[in-house]
Amino acid sequence: MKNKIKNYIKKNFFKECNEIEKLKRENKRLKQINEKLKTMNSFKDEVISAISHEFKNPISIINGYIETIIESNLDEKTKIKFLKKIYNNTTRLSELIDRLYLITKLENKKLKPKFEKFRLDTVAKNLIDSFDEDRIKLNAKKIEITADKNLIDIVLRNLISNALKYSSKEIIVNINEEKVEVIDKGKGIDEKHIELIKEKFYRVAKNDWDNSLGLGLAIVEHILQLHNTKLEIESKKGKGSKFYFDITSLVNKELQQ
Ligand code: ADP
Repeated sequence: MKNKIKNYIKKNFFKECNEIEKLKRENKRLKQINEKLKTMNSFKDEVISAISHEFKNPISIINGYIETIIESNLDEKTKIKFLKKIYNNTTRLSELIDRLYLITKLENKKLKPKFEKFRLDTVAKNLIDSFDEDRIKLNAKKIEITADKNLIDIVLRNLISNALKYSSKEIIVNINEEKVEVIDKGKGIDEKHIELIKEKFYRVAKNDWDNSLGLGLAIVEHILQLHNTKLEIESKKGKGSKFYFDITSLVNKELQQ
């Protein structure tokens, strides 16, 4: 009888211990999920407040100028100056909406690229001319590629605007049969951020949201994926960055000189 009781206790004791271990593991897993949800929630709040800020800022500038035009007796020259400011800010708003729309379409695979043959060096030259910035130096070979011209234009525009935004020195754009490179000698990026900056809404300087939502590189990466290539980044904090991508599979070789 004594032995029977002993065996019973032993058997159930181990069973209980196993149950407790199981519960502990489950508890740990739930804690981890909870932490993840908390981080996601605070990231979501951060993104919402950034988007509101990016919209509110130009709207209040526009309202301010409109109010001044209506209420003050301005001379023609000042009026035109203020109207230009209004125009710049409406453009900023419309670009912001375009970016949000584009990333959503790209993410949902709703954007079908329209492939055509075009001269990449010409597209790059026209784009660089439109920046009206003498800091950009283009070294481009005559290259014809088959790709979506508008989307490739967006890729170059994003990479060059970033280079201009994060550097005050010369920007070099190299184009040859193998790759496209955008090089700056600006603020550079710390190693720990390099892979993350391609994520949607990821920004290195979290408190500085002005004119920046962390969408540019995510858009670039999606577009390059549609062209079976990818964005590569080399950067050193304080020294500058090189953003580049391979174009060998897009180049029309027989048309090269
Ligand atoms: P944003 O619109 O915020 O510039 P991006 O997706 O284009 O969004 O870039 C994400 C982040 O990567 C930026 O917030 C910036 O911190 C960093 N970054 C991008 N390009 C450069 C660059 N040329 N030099 C330094 N940092 C850069």
